Amino acid sequence: MTTSNNINIKSEKITRFPIITIAGHIDHGKTTLLNILRQNEKISKEHGGITQYIKPYNIKTKFGNMTFLDTPGHFAFNSIRKKSIKYSDIVILIIAADDGIKPQTIETIEISKKYNIPIIVAINKIDKIDKTNEKIITELSKYNLTPEKWGGDTLMAFISAKTGKGIDDLIDLINLQTEILDLKANADGPADGFILDNRIDKGKGPIATIIILNGILKKGDVIQIKNTYGKVKTILDDFGHEIKNSHIATPLYITGLPNSIEIGERFNIKKDIKDITPIKTEPTKTKVKKKYDITDLIKNLKITQQQKINIIVKADVQGSINVLKETINELPTDKIKINIIKIEMGHFKTSDINLSVTTNAILIGFNVKCDSKTKKLAENNSIKINTFNVIYDIIDYIKNIIEKKILDETKENITGVANVKRVFKQETSIIAGCIITHGKIKQNAKIKIFRKNNIIHDGIIESIKIFKTDINEVKAGNECGIIIKNYNNIQINDKIKIFSLQNAPERN
Ligand code: GDP
Repeated sequence: MTTSNNINIKSEKITRFPIITIAGHIDHGKTTLLNILRQNEKISKEHGGITQYIKPYNIKTKFGNMTFLDTPGHFAFNSIRKKSIKYSDIVILIIAADDGIKPQTIETIEISKKYNIPIIVAINKIDKIDKTNEKIITELSKYNLTPEKWGGDTLMAFISAKTGKGIDDLIDLINLQTEILDLKANADGPADGFILDNRIDKGKGPIATIIILNGILKKGDVIQIKNTYGKVKTILDDFGHEIKNSHIATPLYITGLPNSIEIGERFNIKKDIKDITPIKTEPTKTKVKKKYDITDLIKNLKITQQQKINIIVKADVQGSINVLKETINELPTDKIKINIIKIEMGHFKTSDINLSVTTNAILIGFNVKCDSKTKKLAENNSIKINTFNVIYDIIDYIKNIIEKKILDETKENITGVANVKRVFKQETSIIAGCIITHGKIKQNAKIKIFRKNNIIHDGIIESIKIFKTDINEVKAGNECGIIIKNYNNIQINDKIKIFSLQNAPERN
């Protein structure tokens, strides 16, 4: 609506930059593509050569600016990718021509379809192959992604992120898709948008990475993100410079929000803190318990006897916390449960050490440090602060602890061990000439055979012989011949172990 003076009094709509997520399987070339798009500024890989956060970049192209989101490709970062794709206008699905469709390729297709985000396929590393990989095209058609040349309507570019070949075509396709989408935003009015990440800065406190989709964000604005809120203290641009006027569809960094804000969520502006309305969350449905059958009963027995390992986790950004929570909770918990007693953003503090002392929890930090006071307290209490800068190393570390703990548990429950000294054949069976080194070995006992600490067979002792006489059991310190039922691959130095049943380790 316009007045007679031609002053636009309705919020003016402007065309905004597209927000584009580059996604695909690990090592298919996401970072290399971003590097070539950014040309001068090199994007450095994080520790371990992998991307572990969503990183936004506003890049100048011949068609104007575009905002790209770099996502981690490893399977563990599924929730981060989901959120990044959800708020994008376009997804570039990068597929290495020499590797083809992989799990995270399929996942990207599925998430994009779920949120209705158009996909542009970029077949990368074409410098490594002689001709188009028809297999990839055929496989992609199973997901309704067929390029025009093959009779479909999917936008597809053939590129080499290394040599730059085809990159102009890709930019043309992004521009074409952007024009089709006709992206508009309210130029003024209060801002709304989404939170990409939240990290701790030693001097400034939490810094949230945001993208505004509409309107203007100002210092002092009250931002609501689900049930948390904060007052904007400073607004920083991509280079860390404080700015007065916010920009739409380009990454911005703001301070003043609390540690606890949820990333990947929409935000809006409230006039006052009084206007914050709590958002009702759906109550989690409690599963109806079915009657136990015998297997449930056994399972339950295990749970009540389950061992717990307490851990305290600190990380620098909210995104990593979400990934760590999900991945740790997915670790197998059949025998040992990993109990996260505290997980939060920030560096280690003395209160974490005190909590570790009282709960016997292992301290795990991701990209965090601790001050000298905290370090000293940890030393005085003989507590190790374990810090990592690659998320998978944390998972490996926890898995290692679980394995060690299971081994320790089982050690205590071994009721007999026989070391194989010689192996002889007698008619149809193989006899293992053994010395009993621990406990006793009994006929018909269930055993596990270990070779170099790996379980290679689960079975039963068929018979025990001393010279030619069959006997029922042999105690530690004695020698005997052992025949294992239906097993004739026993070797010198193998160990035959009997466990008390409930703690016997599983074969993997
Ligand atoms: P990301 O994990 O998807 O970010 O993959 P990267 O960008 O780190 O690339 C993985 C590896 O593939 C690196 O060694 C890159 O140098 C290489 N690479 C990426 N793009 C190309 C390409 O177009 N051609 C060739 N030959 N190598 C490439």
